[in-house]
Amino acid sequence: MKKGLFALAISIGLIGCAEQDNNSTTTQVKQPFPNEVVVYSARAEHLIKPLFDEFTKQTGIGVKFQTGNANALVERLKAEGDQSPADILMTVDAGNLWYAASQGLFQPLNSARIASQIPAHLRDPNNLWTGLSVRARTIVYSSERVDPQQLSSYEDLGSAKWQGRLCLRTSGSVYNKSLVAAMIAHNGEQQTEQTLKNWVGNLASKPQAKDSQVLDAILAGQCDVGIVNTYYFGRMQADKPDMALKLFWANQASTGTHINVSGAGILNSAKNYDGAVKLLEWLVSDDAQGIYGALNKEYPANPKIGVDAQVDSWGRFKQDDLNLSRVGELQQQATMLINRAGYE
Ligand code: FE
Repeated sequence: MKKGLFALAISIGLIGCAEQDNNSTTTQVKQPFPNEVVVYSARAEHLIKPLFDEFTKQTGIGVKFQTGNANALVERLKAEGDQSPADILMTVDAGNLWYAASQGLFQPLNSARIASQIPAHLRDPNNLWTGLSVRARTIVYSSERVDPQQLSSYEDLGSAKWQGRLCLRTSGSVYNKSLVAAMIAHNGEQQTEQTLKNWVGNLASKPQAKDSQVLDAILAGQCDVGIVNTYYFGRMQADKPDMALKLFWANQASTGTHINVSGAGILNSAKNYDGAVKLLEWLVSDDAQGIYGALNKEYPANPKIGVDAQVDSWGRFKQDDLNLSRVGELQQQATMLINRAGYE
């Protein structure tokens, strides 16, 4: 990693959340650059601006961006159509990327560099989008009340020993829909519906609205186990290094821990396709990958790039290598099973 980039990574290494949770938008107005690239981003400004600034410094290509809620940005792009000023949509979760692709917003991203840097299961098979960072969704537990030897898989959180001890985020979260979609791909519909019913039967309380609230509930003793994206754990751990919570890598004896991506695609409306390809190719470069992952306590999408020290302290794990486009395709089926199981 270059020195300047490394310093940048360190200085912003402890900054938090992955995406905008509300409908607010911010606009970064810059001096006009030749070949400026316009990005609509569901990732928050503090997670992307440092990288865009570095890209501009290295290439002389400006980046103008607007941030907003993932669904709102897709609706906006649909309304703007060909008139949209945007070249790239950046968002989180394969479910959201797949939905944007299914709405016809993306054009193929033809780049040998991206194909060589990012594993195939983290990219759309038709090259409509690529993952840029990897997030793991796994089990978190109270280190005071749970013996990790009792833990094994997502499915096992439905077993009798977790009766009244499980906390889950609401099913409306795309993170959970994607996890359920992956379970359908691996276990089939029938078994997945049963797992969801078992989870609901084990809940200690109504589902929490956010991953961070699942962590809070376990810490407060309301429940003993839950499922969260690891960067929320990382954020809390940075504040409370001695907290009595630990991560457990789910499904290591079977499918591997469920992962997802933050990613991007080039829009059909792009006026600057070449600049957009250059920006995405830069974001998958070795230097940018290390920072992009570390900014939000995630994992680089390129598995050859080292991870942030805190993230590394959680240990290595086997990732589920299911192609994430399947997770997108199965979103509706996941929603149907979630409703049938009464998972709110
Ligand atoms: Fe998040």
